[in-house]
Amino acid sequence: MTTAVPATLDGVQALADLLTDGGALVLSGAGLSTDSGIPDYRGVTGSLRRHTPMTYQTFTRYPRGRHRYWARSHVGWRQIATASPNAGHRAVAALQRVGAVGEVITQNVDGLHQAGGARDVVELHGGLDRTVCLGCGDVADRAALDVRLRAANPGFRPDAADEVNPDGDVELPDEALDGFVMVDCLACGGGPLKPDVVFFGETVPRDRVDHCFGLVDQARSLVVLGSSLTVMSGYRFVIAAAKRGIPVGIVNSGPTRGDGKASVRIDAPLGAVLPELARRLA
Ligand SMILES: [Zn+2]
Repeated sequence: MTTAVPATLDGVQALADLLTDGGALVLSGAGLSTDSGIPDYRGVTGSLRRHTPMTYQTFTRYPRGRHRYWARSHVGWRQIATASPNAGHRAVAALQRVGAVGEVITQNVDGLHQAGGARDVVELHGGLDRTVCLGCGDVADRAALDVRLRAANPGFRPDAADEVNPDGDVELPDEALDGFVMVDCLACGGGPLKPDVVFFGETVPRDRVDHCFGLVDQARSLVVLGSSLTVMSGYRFVIAAAKRGIPVGIVNSGPTRGDGKASVRIDAPLGAVLPELARRLA
């Protein structure tokens, strides 16, 4: 069933044909944000091999693990917070404006879809621009936490590291981590804070998953942008679409787990494909 389309204008036209009736649901992943300087740790140049992402279990069970995460995140935040949307993000927003694309489900936690002008974005794995209190559940602004962390850590050198990971995490030596001072929830006066993102080993909230399955049911097509679909939390929507007979298009550099379920498959950089797609559907 798969039509392997090379990275040519024919491939873009096949995708344009898929979207021409409108109402496509986008499922985006880390590959869409690599052009914005946020690395894809599962992609070809990924950092997963040298960096083990924080797990939910380590974060919630071990205060020291949590402390280390926040020390590294305090440094990595600057790169995430200053990243700009790229041509791919802007093309998705343009496709929404002409009705070709409806809603967007993103596996990214960087907020760049919204910064690029997209609306109706479901952040499947949450967003780094918010924190949630593990004690009282209060959701707060990450930028406000940054102000508090800077005040609590005047001697901490946030520019010391140059390797930032997609979850805003960086590598830092132990002695640097030990000197970091973390602050707690202001709402309840002491609850530990967690970024409002889904860590490895954590499940996506059920109501969010159900909402996304509902979006798949209503979609005319499902278009995967920049994800190898390694994680089931995104791949399950491709399986659901295929089961319902909803056509699937995939644009990604390199193979994906969903290739066998795609009627249009483009193996090419999103920065080349999406602006051309938006131009053809404008
Ligand atoms: Zn609290």
